[in-house]
Amino acid sequence: MLLENRVAIVTGAARGIGEQTVYQFAQEGARVAVVDIDMALAEEVAAAIRAKGGHADAFQCDVSKPPLVEQLVKDVVQKYGQLEILVNNAGICPRIPLDEMTEERFDQLINVNLKSVFFLSRAAGNVMKAQHYGRIVNLSSTGGRTGGIINSTVYSATKAGIISMTKAFARQYAPYNILVNSVAPGAVDTRMMALPEEIKHSVIEDAPFKRLADPAEIAHVITFLSSENASWMTGATVDVNGGTVMV
Ligand code: NAD
Repeated sequence: MLLENRVAIVTGAARGIGEQTVYQFAQEGARVAVVDIDMALAEEVAAAIRAKGGHADAFQCDVSKPPLVEQLVKDVVQKYGQLEILVNNAGICPRIPLDEMTEERFDQLINVNLKSVFFLSRAAGNVMKAQHYGRIVNLSSTGGRTGGIINSTVYSATKAGIISMTKAFARQYAPYNILVNSVAPGAVDTRMMALPEEIKHSVIEDAPFKRLADPAEIAHVITFLSSENASWMTGATVDVNGGTVMV
């Protein structure tokens, strides 16, 4: 198994890409902290993993709050005694036209999508440094490459910021044998893509394979980057978009 004896934190794991990621991690032998702001849903996911014989516990955390993510890392390490993998997956993508963006919503987007990645990577990284082993995977987006297409100006800027932050952490953590990579999905069939039908249709029409991604297809790449097999990759952003954006 790819992740045997590993302990992983996956944020935003109560549904969508994060949910599929924790299922695959558990299947590959990891003990998983299913982290989400929605504790009821996180509990359901953890229970589903345990029902199949896997190891998982739900943890409630609003990742936009640095003191809470620091406490989360302490709680996970206290429970499992180790921490090798962090997936910064939690994110929000409210579709807000330029003229309707407020300072409050701007700050919320930055805090949930970008500030969280910095503070959680640092807190988890300090544990990984001491172990001289770690894997961090951040969720970017094709929007981070292109600027976004559907009222997602600030969202896309946070996802571009993640690409840059991935490189900066990768360089600083390499001496500690910690790899830091990111994944940039295109349109994935999750709650985040719950758009009006005509917009969804045009996204699908523009895609070479004429469909959205299944969240498990993104989770497969996250699982690889979280494993020992990724040993010669760091600072990379892997485009997982069915060919919609070729860079
Ligand atoms: P989703 O909306 O289905 O799931 C996001 C999860 O994050 C939810 O369970 C939600 O409760 C949780 N969350 C939100 N705010 C939180 C907070 N403050 N603290 C803790 N948890 C919080 O979204 P998804 O499509 O699975 O997206 C997962 C990641 O992939 C996001 O970072 C997203 O930007 C990225 N992504 C998604 C797509 C797509 O098309 N769905 C494309 C590119 C990138």
